[in-house]
Amino acid sequence: RLFGDTYPLVSLSCFQSPQRIPYDEAVRQEFRPVKVGDSFGPTWWTCWFKVELSIPREWTGKEVHLLWESDGEGMVWRDTQPVQGLTKEGEKTSYILTEALKETDPHSLTVYVEVACNGLFGAGKGSLVAPPDPEKKFTLNQAELVVFHRDVYELLVDFEILVDMAKFLGEENQRSFQALYVANQMVNLLDVTDPATFPAARQLASSIFSQKNGDSQHTIHAMGHCHIDSAWLWPYEESVRKCARSWVTVIRLMEKNPEFTFVCSQAQQFEWVRNRYPGLYAQIQDFAKEGRFIPVGGTWVEMDGNLPSGESMVRQFLLGQRFFQQQFGRLCSEFWLPDTFGYSAQLPQLMRGCGIRRFLTQKLSWSLVNTFPHSTFFWEGIDGSQVLTHFPPGNSYGLQGQVEEMLKTMNNNRDKGQVNHSTALFGFGDGGGGPTQKMLDRLTRMRDVDGLPRVQMSTPDQFFSVLEKEEPQLCTWIGELFLELHNGTYTTQAQIKKENRECERILHDVEVLSSFALTQNSTFPYPSSKLEHLWRLLLLNQFHDVLPGSCIQLVVEDALRYYAVVWIHCNTPPDSLTSILPTGPETAESLLVLNTLPWERTEVISRTGEETLALVKVPSMGYSAVKDSLTPPHPVTVVKQADGSVTMENGVIAAHLDSMGRVISLRLVHSGRESVQDGHCANQFVIFDDIPLYWDAWDAMDYHLETRKPITSLLKPLEIVLAGGLRGSVKFSLQISERSVITQEVILDAMCPYLRFLTQVDWNEAHRFLKVEFPLRVRSMNATYEIQFGHLQRPTHWNTSWDWARFEVWSHKWMDLQGCARGLALSGSGAGFSHGQGKRLHSINPPLSSRLRAPKSPDATADIGHHQFTYAVMPHRGSFQEAGVIHCAYSLNYPLHTIPVVSVPCPAWSAFSVDSPAVVLETVKQAGAPKRLDSLVLRLYESYGSTVVTWLRTALPIKEAIDCDLLERPDPSSHLPLGEHGLTLSFTPFQVRSLLLILRHPAQ
Ligand SMILES: [Zn+2]
Repeated sequence: RLFGDTYPLVSLSCFQSPQRIPYDEAVRQEFRPVKVGDSFGPTWWTCWFKVELSIPREWTGKEVHLLWESDGEGMVWRDTQPVQGLTKEGEKTSYILTEALKETDPHSLTVYVEVACNGLFGAGKGSLVAPPDPEKKFTLNQAELVVFHRDVYELLVDFEILVDMAKFLGEENQRSFQALYVANQMVNLLDVTDPATFPAARQLASSIFSQKNGDSQHTIHAMGHCHIDSAWLWPYEESVRKCARSWVTVIRLMEKNPEFTFVCSQAQQFEWVRNRYPGLYAQIQDFAKEGRFIPVGGTWVEMDGNLPSGESMVRQFLLGQRFFQQQFGRLCSEFWLPDTFGYSAQLPQLMRGCGIRRFLTQKLSWSLVNTFPHSTFFWEGIDGSQVLTHFPPGNSYGLQGQVEEMLKTMNNNRDKGQVNHSTALFGFGDGGGGPTQKMLDRLTRMRDVDGLPRVQMSTPDQFFSVLEKEEPQLCTWIGELFLELHNGTYTTQAQIKKENRECERILHDVEVLSSFALTQNSTFPYPSSKLEHLWRLLLLNQFHDVLPGSCIQLVVEDALRYYAVVWIHCNTPPDSLTSILPTGPETAESLLVLNTLPWERTEVISRTGEETLALVKVPSMGYSAVKDSLTPPHPVTVVKQADGSVTMENGVIAAHLDSMGRVISLRLVHSGRESVQDGHCANQFVIFDDIPLYWDAWDAMDYHLETRKPITSLLKPLEIVLAGGLRGSVKFSLQISERSVITQEVILDAMCPYLRFLTQVDWNEAHRFLKVEFPLRVRSMNATYEIQFGHLQRPTHWNTSWDWARFEVWSHKWMDLQGCARGLALSGSGAGFSHGQGKRLHSINPPLSSRLRAPKSPDATADIGHHQFTYAVMPHRGSFQEAGVIHCAYSLNYPLHTIPVVSVPCPAWSAFSVDSPAVVLETVKQAGAPKRLDSLVLRLYESYGSTVVTWLRTALPIKEAIDCDLLERPDPSSHLPLGEHGLTLSFTPFQVRSLLLILRHPAQ
């Protein structure tokens, strides 16, 4: 028997709270007596147990545990400090009081056990991903002192390894027979009532374990791990405690096992523990100094790999690496993202720009259709940057150190001919508390056993260093790492996606405008610490179960609250903007129009309301004062036809909409070319049944496309809202169902090359998917999609399994379908942006813009309610690059700002402009680390996929310009020559460049 004598507790009492309160506060509360078998809860409450115990004197010399088995997740507190996590699901039900009781040890003590009323995976009602059951009760099943028989435990571990070798090595392997024979001998020899027989049995086991491998055997680099989702089926606040419970358990294991290493990602989680558990954090820092508690990843959180903007991804690394440098004295040298739903083809360049050349993930093993062909390879991004990439072949980040897993790790390694090394990440995640002593003991036995792969405790650095020696042998994978699963996460929880995009925009604008102010006014207080705080909130919400929408309602509420904080602190234009305006005598009233994009824009703006429109021209990244509207070369005309349809034209494009708001014709006026396919309608809303196999919020399955139903129930026919001139618009409403309605205003502005669709949806559906179809007269085998700082192509057909597995894909601000000398682009703002391909409708599938889903798990209220989003369609000549699609998509997403009244003369002013339209100046901000008040950081990228040399022009007083990396570390060898109006810059395709500009007049 594993456990010997037992002894009851002296007393057990508890205090319950709906709040998560600190230890000091909890222990001051009134505790009431309870007993084993009692229930507590409900869900999300915390139950604090006060445990008074006294170890019997006669147990001297024995190993004594407090055995604690309860539902929920527990933390033991002793002498005011957290000492051990307890969780049944993570196989942690004992707190070791002593390994060998001494006479002089204190025999009586009081500990507290803080139990969170949620499981490892929240509190789903009936299934893992179901919405939480708020009424769940939790039970304490066992709480007593026991004598632990270490010798029995060791025998059991020996025996398990031998049995597993017999089971999993297979009949063709003689080692399986040898293991079985020895295990049988052990059983024969053992007398379970006589511990004196144990050593001889262990000796037998060791006769197998001591037989060594040959030189050629595969080596597994084992690393302890505990994947903690920063929020998912539980709120952020619970993740804080999950981190503490798990990491304190890891520290206890480290104290006992000198070789044990543990890798840990997400700066945010370290920051949580630093703030809430300073004592534990100090211990973590000590083990980090020894190189055993190893921070990895370099990012603020393990973010979604598809939807965050390029700049957001840079900030994930910038704020993450800066934190690791400050707290642990080193940058992470590997990017760690094992659980995210696909990986942008821009990531390799961003990693390289942040001091990272190595990448680890395993999620592509979840792909439903195709098996990824490599375990160890070079991953090459759209610009040609490469990173050394490894997928742990065990296809998990939560192994348990079993024989079967080690054999799978070796056998499933797809590049084992070239590279004889793999990693194995072991430990229960998500509050399971990470590794256990048993896992470590299994791995220790498998260190070098003939027939099994060699297993060594290792570190990411040791592992990747070995791989780097084998580099010339490795294969290369170019382009995105697309996960053929969870493709509904591009659309689910549209509000979160919209807020993410809006907050990215607003932080961009505040940084640009604050930078202008800094250059104009030396006393301007650039809000750097406020911006860092807001960026941290935005980056946290980009976690891989929040931005994808795969979280419970409590998390959605938290996320929306954090977005609201960004909004409250970022009123644009910022109050401080006045500091950039010249002062002088008052003149007539006018309007100041601000442009935060790096090109001149001529657009229709709405001054104070819908009545007063104006056509304005604003210089690149600057402003101009507007008194009167410009006159467009061609006013917008809107004409209602006898059949109720409406034609709209602005001299650039002409559209014909039927009475249901469908676009039956869309032409370029100049060439007269029609874009809409014969016999079809564009802007056709369609609805699909959307019932995934299991992962409700996550998955859109390909078979949903077989259930297409066009929405044709007209609620209000097309009517003219604005009759033309500077802006024409029409409006209509459709009934989706008895419970859901679409109202749309279709808008055409003077001089504007695209038609805008301002859409309101009252959505109250279950398991339905709303999309908009655009069947086009363009035949192309591929469509182009914008990603972070660039674009890529994906197939429009279903030829091979790799093609049709991409039936639902993601994109950022635009997608384009291009035929010979013409094309059509779709651009979006607002809700999440993605494209599905209609199945079996056409040989070339038309683009569909996916707008809203209605999954019921894990958030039963997901997406129910009112939505507002805008998309646009833009027919064009030539390539999308020549047609200016990229600029138009930016302009749609970054509206001009207006300040109603300016009382001073204010000439048009431009801070920056770039001669080549291929180069986008994406970011302007104050230099961060080390903080330099006199310096700006500019980030530019080549957006066409071309090689370009261009001028960056500026009106600012620049003293010095230096290339820097994405972490804003200057490259001292790259001082850029300054011309009279700026500097010349060269770019390779999709290259991202960061510049440090030192101003001539220091700000302070
Ligand atoms: Zn995860």
